[in-house]
Amino acid sequence: GLSQPWALRDLGFAENSLWLKAGSQAAKRRLAAFVAELPRYAEDRNFPAKDATSGLSVHLRFGTLSIRAAVRAALAHPSAGSDAWLSELIWRDFFVMILDQFPHVATGAFRREYDTIRWPGSEAHFQAWQEGRTGYPLVDAAMRQLLATGWMHNRLRMVTASFLVKDLLVDWRKGEAHFARHLLDFDLAANNGGWQWCASTGCDAQPWFRIFHPYTQSKRFDPEGNYIRTQLPELENVRKNIHCPQDVPAYPAPLVDHALQRKHALELFKYGKKENQESKN
Ligand code: FAD
Repeated sequence: GLSQPWALRDLGFAENSLWLKAGSQAAKRRLAAFVAELPRYAEDRNFPAKDATSGLSVHLRFGTLSIRAAVRAALAHPSAGSDAWLSELIWRDFFVMILDQFPHVATGAFRREYDTIRWPGSEAHFQAWQEGRTGYPLVDAAMRQLLATGWMHNRLRMVTASFLVKDLLVDWRKGEAHFARHLLDFDLAANNGGWQWCASTGCDAQPWFRIFHPYTQSKRFDPEGNYIRTQLPELENVRKNIHCPQDVPAYPAPLVDHALQRKHALELFKYGKKENQESKN
């Protein structure tokens, strides 16, 4: 009857615990709490275990928080942290402008010369990446968290995107589409901009010859492995060498050799560009 509210189950939905509170009141409260933490943002924002970013992207994406309210809050609390945060808010606008002025980015490289690259990465590797089974713990932890929660930390978005493109040699657009399906804060401009930055095909992107080393990133940004352990139960008891665990039966061996793949990636970029120049002549 109508005397009792319907349970989600009765409507055919599964109960879920969302990490985020919805609505504009919740957004306001989250912004206020974050502003108090702004001073440490500049230093801590790159460490996924530290929970030092605002977590406001879903609100900004859906308009339950206005960008002006965010900017005003940062300007009212000047510090190195608020400067750093403002510059992230500016990236958001920057990528909106890129999409508006260069709409071809929605389907191809901002720098068109990279559209000729034929990515040799396999479907099996793409599948392993999506499911968090690459044998690179930081990558796997991030990819599994994305599937479980619809969230991923910015540093990890960079690490996993770079890994897909430059270690697994898979077309960045496939990774972009996977993120689009799963991110709660999915936004075409920001996601596309982020992917093209990582794939070195974008405007003002990471240069193609600069390739993240997945173990170095892991040691630098999750030194104790505290983040990794939150997502990978099979590594819970690994204390030594959590960044590249050896002989843990429940955990896969690395899918590829980074040093080798790095060389392939450099060749792809060099050759892709050259082929394009020749076809123009
Ligand atoms: P904070 O560090 O608190 O930043 C505050 C706000 O600034 C964010 O909420 C966001 O609106 C904006 N912002 C921060 N960094 C960026 C950035 N690099 N580009 C554009 N806007 C930024 N962000 C999205 O909102 N939607 C996406 O679909 C998305 N996809 C991404 C894909 C890749 C491959 C990469 C590298 C980045 C992507 N980002 C995306 C940007 C960034 O990772 C997230 O905005 C951020 O992690 C959200 O967490 P936060 O709100 O705690 O960020």
